[in-house]
Amino acid sequence: MTEASRSPENRGSACAFEAASRVMPGGVNSPVRAFGAVGGVPRFIERGCGAILHDIDGREYIDYVGSWGPLILGHAHPSVVKAVQQAANRGTSFGAPTEAETHLATLIIERVPSIEMVRLVNSGTEAVMSAVRLARAVTGRSLIVKFDGCYHGHADALLVAAGSGAMTFGTPSSPGVTSGAAADTLVADYNDLASVESALADRGSDLAAILVEPIAGNMGLVPPVAGFLAGLREICDRTGALLIYDEVMTCFRVAPGGAQALYGQKPDITCLGKIVGGGLPLAAYGASVRIMQQVSPVGPVYQAGTLSGNPVATAAGIAMLEALDDPTIYDRLESLSARLDEGLREAARSAGVATRHARVGSMLCTFFTDSEVTNFATASACDTQQYARYFHAMLDCGIYLAPSQFECMFVSSAQTEEQIDRTVAAAREALTLTAC
Ligand SMILES: *Cc1c(COP(=O)(O)O)cnc(C)c1O
Repeated sequence: MTEASRSPENRGSACAFEAASRVMPGGVNSPVRAFGAVGGVPRFIERGCGAILHDIDGREYIDYVGSWGPLILGHAHPSVVKAVQQAANRGTSFGAPTEAETHLATLIIERVPSIEMVRLVNSGTEAVMSAVRLARAVTGRSLIVKFDGCYHGHADALLVAAGSGAMTFGTPSSPGVTSGAAADTLVADYNDLASVESALADRGSDLAAILVEPIAGNMGLVPPVAGFLAGLREICDRTGALLIYDEVMTCFRVAPGGAQALYGQKPDITCLGKIVGGGLPLAAYGASVRIMQQVSPVGPVYQAGTLSGNPVATAAGIAMLEALDDPTIYDRLESLSARLDEGLREAARSAGVATRHARVGSMLCTFFTDSEVTNFATASACDTQQYARYFHAMLDCGIYLAPSQFECMFVSSAQTEEQIDRTVAAAREALTLTAC
């Protein structure tokens, strides 16, 4: 047992983790939750309320993970909870159409500039997997380009030099992915158009799609440099390929219309997840009517789901998007996040710790490095041991950060200035401790 797991205040989580590890691999249902990258005992959660997580040992944390992005309004937002309860009372699944699905689809189309028609699915993984199939079908080509350090879920063709989860565990790609499944995936460097051209070499005429996180959020936070996204659009137009934006993390987060609205860019296909499901398992992919009419049953591209458009998840998504239809929420997120960002920069300076800081709206990251982070190689150069010490010092102060250097911090509108200031004060102490 580690020191942390013996400490009396975490006894409940330590016991729960042991029991879980006997029946589930690593005791978890998604790898990063196991604290493998930072060591120690993952906190087992009893409940969440607004900005606060409560663990089963009765400890409280200000939460900056927010279920990895969906909880932009905080935990158990009253209108989302009410919508879920009301929907569940009417029945949890029908396998037949409901008007609520049309309502959610309409809200998505109104907000995301490039989407004219949409298909609801169950997870981000499924949305991206389906988008890639659609792009290949529409173009009649097979090659895709993705970027090192971007994460697009765990579909076989995309576990090629995989992002955060697999990266944290030190495997560049996963066993069980056949060379055939990976053979049509080219990997380029984020923020580097020349690397796309050289990956493609003379195979541009076989390119089906470029797949990109328009703001990379799965290697820490790496915003696109000026000209990068426009350059990808240009390469796709020149080669006749489609541009797929994976906005699973960014849509409704950095702006109501996602990164494409923030930067004025136009992808061909957009993948959504996380916020769009209001904290329930729901995701989506969408495009122009012309492209989406290739999807079954109108077109020949097969894609289906027993629980797709599930009424409870759909109700949560509608409640979430309706609650977000209020510009003051984004103003509030911006001012809270700017306050946090400035506070963390100042805390690192005064502690004399070499860090780099990134922020786009309510997504933030503190990199433990003294050089600029623009891609996977520079992100990988961070001091992950120092991050682990910082993470545990913050956790001890009641601040719940992502248990990995290669993840973002998410601010929610449930947070208060006072909680932000408490977080900055904790960071000042934690950074001073981790400096030595
Ligand atoms: C989280 C995430 C996914 C995967 O979504 P799941 O719902 O976990 O399958 C895909 N792409 C990006 C950019 C993500 O952040």
